[in-house]
Amino acid sequence: MTVGFVNALTPGMRRGKPFTPHEPLDAAATTAAREVYPRHPGFTAPDAAELAEVAGRLRVVFDAMDDGAVDDAAAQVNRLIDDHNARPRLDRHDGEPWHLHFHGPGGTMAGDWGASCATALAIVLGSEFSDRLGVCTAPSCDRVYVDVSRNGTRRFCSTACQNRVKTAAFRARARK
Ligand SMILES: [Zn+2]
Repeated sequence: MTVGFVNALTPGMRRGKPFTPHEPLDAAATTAAREVYPRHPGFTAPDAAELAEVAGRLRVVFDAMDDGAVDDAAAQVNRLIDDHNARPRLDRHDGEPWHLHFHGPGGTMAGDWGASCATALAIVLGSEFSDRLGVCTAPSCDRVYVDVSRNGTRRFCSTACQNRVKTAAFRARARK
């Protein structure tokens, strides 16, 4: 979810082109959420604006890891945890079994997601898989990913970027 929000809601480059989050932001945020949670109720415009800010702060963690600045990444995660009051709590609602939430009651939807995403990043950063947070290495792309491959060899945000790089390498060889 963290990756989805960062990639949909932070400006930069995407697959070779400049990227600005699609307007209206509430639709962009809702689409990103529903890719993982199809029954997500959706974001209001103020929620989405707040979520975009949260996404910008989450993005800092990926950028820091990409720069090898692990200490900065950890500090940023801790700030996010503090600011969103993240803490584990078992919850049961909507006919679901007990499951773990990372936010207290009464927060905004964006704040709740901030708490959840910060906790998820903390779990990754505090594990042997801390180097699995990445920024796409294809030209003109800065979308982020979490590498869940067995070998940890992922370098691109998407197969689209992987294919772009492959095609360029193939053309370069063909010209020789
Ligand atoms: Zn990419």
